[in-house]
Amino acid sequence: MYLTLNAAFLVIASGLVGLCMGSFLNVLIHRLPQMLLASADPNKSAQDLGICWPASHCVHCLQPLRWHENIPLTSFVWLRGRCGHCAQPISWRYPLVELLSAIWLMSCATKWGLSATAMLNALAGLCLIALVFIDAEHMLLPDTLTQPLLWGGLLSSCSGWTTTHAEHAILGAVLGYILLAAPAAIYRWRTGVDGLGGGDAKLLAAIGAWQGVMAPPAVLMIAGLGSLFWMVCWRRQGLMTRTPYPFGPWLAGTCMAGWLWAA
Ligand SMILES: [Zn+2]
Repeated sequence: MYLTLNAAFLVIASGLVGLCMGSFLNVLIHRLPQMLLASADPNKSAQDLGICWPASHCVHCLQPLRWHENIPLTSFVWLRGRCGHCAQPISWRYPLVELLSAIWLMSCATKWGLSATAMLNALAGLCLIALVFIDAEHMLLPDTLTQPLLWGGLLSSCSGWTTTHAEHAILGAVLGYILLAAPAAIYRWRTGVDGLGGGDAKLLAAIGAWQGVMAPPAVLMIAGLGSLFWMVCWRRQGLMTRTPYPFGPWLAGTCMAGWLWAA
């Protein structure tokens, strides 16, 4: 009974931490692409915007949020999905990211308990959630996130902090990169245009680093089929165009589902 109560406390505490981490991810998802754009623009100062400044504010009226408007999930429900100042709608992404982060951390706590493995996998999953939404909104998988995810996975596996063996992690990272970088290079050579973003290959390499050599082909196949099905549905509704399409959410989403299923 004592252990069961401890486990329940751990899961609830993980959920609360997950809500707060999700709130931070929302800031990251909103600001990181803007910061990268600003750093690439010589007319803008990268100092104007950071992850921690300015304070949280409404994206429509720029009014700073009061403390009770900044409580994960609760504020969205309390404000009925609208800004307390200008009444403009708040994106559904905010509660969704907070909820997904809480579910992910609770799942990690349930699966791996209070351990280094749980914490590292929790961090990697949060990074994947950020990548899902940044790619979905901006068609961008920033090196700022994919590189630490890749090297963090290799370091964790090689140090024995995760359940993936070192050699599986290294081979997984190499295979993951080749599986997408090679067809992308061939497509670019044959057509002269980019068919796949470079970030997708780095993301699949990171997935291999965390989950081993079997993960990249499996994730790529399931994500590819899911993506194909989605595109067919779009075509049936007359929405299919040749506009670029984010593949990162499919890769990261499949990876996270498989992570909890298999590990
Ligand atoms: Zn507002």
